[in-house]
Amino acid sequence: MSTYILAIDQGTTSSRALVFDASGNQLGVGQQEFTQHFPDNGWVEHDAEEIWGTTLASCRAALEATGITGADLACIGITNQRETTVVWDKATGKPIHHAIVWQDRRTSDYCTELKQKAGLVEKIQDKTGLLLDSYFSATKIRWILNAVPGARARAANGELAFGTIDSWLLWQLTGGQSHCTDATNASRTMLFNIQEQCWDEELMALFDVPAAILPEVKDCAADFGLSQASLFGSAVPITGMIGDQQSAAFGQGCFGAGMAKSTYGTGCFLLLNTGEVMLKSSNQLLSTIAYRLNGQTVYAIEGSIFMAGATMQWIRDGLKLIDDAAESGALAEATPDNLSVYLVPAFTGLGAPYWDPNARGALLGMTRDTGIKEIVTAGLMSVCYQTRDLVEAIAADGAVLSTLRVDGGMVKNNYVLQKLADVLDAEVHRPEIIETTALGAAYMAGLQLGLFSSLEEISEKWQLQQAFKPAKDASWREQQYQGWQDAVARTRSQG
Ligand code: ADP
Repeated sequence: MSTYILAIDQGTTSSRALVFDASGNQLGVGQQEFTQHFPDNGWVEHDAEEIWGTTLASCRAALEATGITGADLACIGITNQRETTVVWDKATGKPIHHAIVWQDRRTSDYCTELKQKAGLVEKIQDKTGLLLDSYFSATKIRWILNAVPGARARAANGELAFGTIDSWLLWQLTGGQSHCTDATNASRTMLFNIQEQCWDEELMALFDVPAAILPEVKDCAADFGLSQASLFGSAVPITGMIGDQQSAAFGQGCFGAGMAKSTYGTGCFLLLNTGEVMLKSSNQLLSTIAYRLNGQTVYAIEGSIFMAGATMQWIRDGLKLIDDAAESGALAEATPDNLSVYLVPAFTGLGAPYWDPNARGALLGMTRDTGIKEIVTAGLMSVCYQTRDLVEAIAADGAVLSTLRVDGGMVKNNYVLQKLADVLDAEVHRPEIIETTALGAAYMAGLQLGLFSSLEEISEKWQLQQAFKPAKDASWREQQYQGWQDAVARTRSQG
């Protein structure tokens, strides 16, 4: 019997594929980077065909590395960079324009213009859980349909298809048989009503997006179609799709209300499960779909930070203070705990809960004895303080975080996790498997086929590697955090 699962993890800088067995053990991986295109200031594009090519090559490499064939595969799960927008020709399967990446700011002036319309920001938040921002797909689709000659008429005629990367990969895998997405990816388009679980006609009219180009929205575990037999030697059912941050939360077993995960890679994304309640944020966080199974929607509240591990890259490559990010822990351990040097890494503005694109970075509080280890430590501490900012905003919105499950490349750093527990006054749990994004997609695909019987069974697979408990008193915590807040205030833009 075929019991292996192929999980596709299509990210912003590389495409990856991982083979898992039916117990959730990772057996092998294939990975390929692809080209980033920056055609103008603030513009970021990907070639969707290159995304597909690198994904297929990664799948084949993962299979080859494990000696597993298409016939041994029970199913495929897809997780992906979210919001990135592709429009393609249904007849040829060719994109009509490069994909516009989530980071791309080309439609931000248009969003600023829309914000002037009375009540629109609130309406969009009520319906989609999102802030009116160029980050999400809606204004990117509109831009492509306006920019490519003839595209609007062809879209209205049903000749074109829109998809986020999950839908694009599904179309390619199934040879154009399936034009679907899942509820989590749909929830990032700014066109999907997350309360009513449908494409929203009012928003489609507002953003000039015709119904004919939109994919069908399914649960995260569903029958999405069969891969073409020519790709892996036999047709394999695609049975799971989920956006990357939601997938990491799922892989971390965050199934109960109040459970949260934070992924520390280049940036940081924190998702807290709010159960069957869509919590509307008054503090510039996003409400989003955590997952949808058997028609039941579970919601999450989400906050993101632009610079987490990237601050260490800047200290390493920009300032050349260290040769390797791994050196940072030992330097920080040798630095006193009551450090009053603060690094606010607002290099590209500040993310949640400030959303201040014009803020800029600063290093504050230096004295004559400030040296490399203080600056490195301030860089690591900035990740903890920024997480506290998110947790404070979540608390102000009425949700409570008790324990934080962490993953991503930066969580190898014990110093960061201990200080995170100290700054948050909450336990921080690092699991055995920190590759949780691909794992979430594998679980999702396996659930549909019954390889995993329930969420309880998946919960039991989660294994604690180390718990970090708060070890500092309240006066330390508040004094240090006050210093951070003062530092952030000095980096804020005026308008
Ligand atoms: P992404 O998936 O966003 O590319 P990863 O999850 O692979 O990122 O994490 C890589 C990031 O983690 C890098 O930005 C790197 O600077 C940071 N990092 C890796 N190891 C450490 C460490 N020991 N201490 C601090 N930061 C680290």
